[in-house]
Amino acid sequence: MSAAQNPPIQTLSGVGKLTAERLEKLHLHTVQDLLFHLPSRYQDRSRLHSIAEAQIGQEIQLDAEILAVEFKGASKRRSLICTLGQAGSTRRISLRLFHFNPAQQAQLRRGTFIRCFGEVRRGFQGLELVHPEYQVINPENPPPVSEQLSPIYPSSEGLHQKLWQRLIGQAFQYPLEDLLAPYQDLFGDLPELAQAISYLHHPPVDINHAQMLSGKHPAQRRLALEELLAHQLSLALLKQQMQQHQAPCFENAGAYRQKLLKSLPFQLTRAQQRVVGDIETDLASQRPMQRLVQGDVGSGKTIVAALAALQALESGYQVAIMAPTELLAEQHRRNFEQWLAVLEMQPAWLVGSLTPKQKREALAALAEGESRLVIGTHALFQDKVQFQRLGLIIVDEQHRFGVHQRLALRDKASHSDERPHQLIMTATPIPRTLAMISYADLDVSVIDELPPGRKPVTTVVMPEDKREQLVERIAAVCAEGRQSYWVCPLIEESETLASQAAEEIYQYLSERLSHLRVGLVHGRLKAKEKDSIMQAFKAHELDLLVATTVIEVGVDVPNASLMIIENAERMGMAQLHQLRGRVGRGNIDSFCVLLYQAPLSQTGFRRLSTLRESQDGFYIAEQDLNLRGPGELLGTRQTGLVQLKIADLERDQDLLPQVGQLTRALLAEPDRAQILVQRWLAQGWHYGDAY
Ligand code: ADP
Ligand code: MG
Repeated sequence: MSAAQNPPIQTLSGVGKLTAERLEKLHLHTVQDLLFHLPSRYQDRSRLHSIAEAQIGQEIQLDAEILAVEFKGASKRRSLICTLGQAGSTRRISLRLFHFNPAQQAQLRRGTFIRCFGEVRRGFQGLELVHPEYQVINPENPPPVSEQLSPIYPSSEGLHQKLWQRLIGQAFQYPLEDLLAPYQDLFGDLPELAQAISYLHHPPVDINHAQMLSGKHPAQRRLALEELLAHQLSLALLKQQMQQHQAPCFENAGAYRQKLLKSLPFQLTRAQQRVVGDIETDLASQRPMQRLVQGDVGSGKTIVAALAALQALESGYQVAIMAPTELLAEQHRRNFEQWLAVLEMQPAWLVGSLTPKQKREALAALAEGESRLVIGTHALFQDKVQFQRLGLIIVDEQHRFGVHQRLALRDKASHSDERPHQLIMTATPIPRTLAMISYADLDVSVIDELPPGRKPVTTVVMPEDKREQLVERIAAVCAEGRQSYWVCPLIEESETLASQAAEEIYQYLSERLSHLRVGLVHGRLKAKEKDSIMQAFKAHELDLLVATTVIEVGVDVPNASLMIIENAERMGMAQLHQLRGRVGRGNIDSFCVLLYQAPLSQTGFRRLSTLRESQDGFYIAEQDLNLRGPGELLGTRQTGLVQLKIADLERDQDLLPQVGQLTRALLAEPDRAQILVQRWLAQGWHYGDAY
């Protein structure tokens, strides 16, 4: 599309330098970007509610009389509370203002009628509307209700809803090409692009409100389809481009692998053998491997990675293994030291905490090819790092990286025309729907079997008020020389709140268990502090570790045999399962206690029961998918999954077959495909130059 048809955003009237900068921060640069800045939701002011209908969390509009006015709290932080009622009903709801001026105070008097619009919350005494929009009305002659749904745009400071409406209104004057027009018959029942976009920004009066509010209107589905397509397509394009590159071909006799296998005290499971086979084939071809290995906690992914590494080493190439934290990298280092010793080799080490001298030496050894296999953290992929002949990159616990980092990493790794192979390992089972959108660039292998002889972790579900009993339990476990975890999960996605909760529990447990060595680790600590506390726990310098979910990934302390998880009802099942995997790593009986805050919903009960009854991560993930849907299953924080603007993987699942068909069709039209991807993913899922 030419610049004349899609000019920069400053072209619009009302966009000065400051506004342009603010829009830029939201990745909005052109007029067309505005059209794709879709409302995140709608407000419905088309009807008046009765107080009796009010439900917590719902937005309502009501006409009511002020029955009483009172002030609560100390003079500086007084709030004004009006009790509202409606004729013919004894139900009440409160209007609460924390900030108010004398004019408002004079206006809100007993006997006055008002119309308000806001979200219903649970207050100190029943239902409340906190700072609703309101206007004084004449009950004899109330103003008409708005007939249209009002779009609410995702926004940031200084950008008001009115501004969005004005700017987007202007943007409609520029042409917009429907890139899917040639494929309309693949989704014939959905509207064309321009109409769909216009419906979303300006819902017509007679549109089906309920359908719009639930996101299932055909106009919304049309755009959801296009958005899902853009995501899948961007990764499919990546894969296509990647496949055009050469990769080193590791065809060798497998002497290294044989040596290592002989030295192991165990046999590979059948699942491990199968996955090792997949990787072997990939590495012996001339195309860069892009493989994701999924395997439950403890399924033995590390040895699979080691065998892949040996295949590359035997062909004379270098291998880089990257873990998300120093602690995890350290764990790999210990394993690889042992395994490589069989071949009279040693892993090199590259992490942020090296001294400048150590780092210089490590970098030189990599560049000269003296180091064959290096283990480290993100430090491995900084600009300064040069490899002599990098043939394979192994990334552990991928879900801590996410799509963006995955792409960045590929860029960093490409120093010559040849591309290294890439192996990604994750303990998080990824349902098919998610994989289609977020991992379309990867081939997937699954280790769906645990090594024999694992002791299951006995799991108990308890209400929170039984905490006292647990204190005794911890004392008993630690008296036997074992260790325990006490985990406080993220609440409302806030690490700050979680850290506070962890601090409180830490205080409480330190007092109650003053004879034990108690440690605290949470996300507000610096990485170094976190690691040193985790190390202390690992070295058994601590008996009990109070932690937020920062401990989630891969920490191996076989002596820990008890884990208590607070607010388990608020966490994803996959996440709970992973946390639980931190115990039961040795050969002792282990326990996991899931504490919940009563009352527990029926779904909540089923979820925790599933965990109590099953140890199978994939079964649990599937159940979770059934109970909660894929959107919530992994959570964007955990997966680094893309943020979708309008599509919802659960709600729009049925569109995926069409998305797949369209992806295949558009791969044959790379130019069209790239424009589409850019429209939706302007934030820079880059491709093309990256390779
Ligand atoms: P994860 O998949 O969680 O990374 P690890 O690779 O850390 O699991 O393996 C967990 C433990 O199981 C390690 O101590 C490892 O040596 C051991 N292990 C791996 N494969 C087998 C096997 N086939 N039989 C017995 N033990 C195994
Ligand atoms: Mg692991």
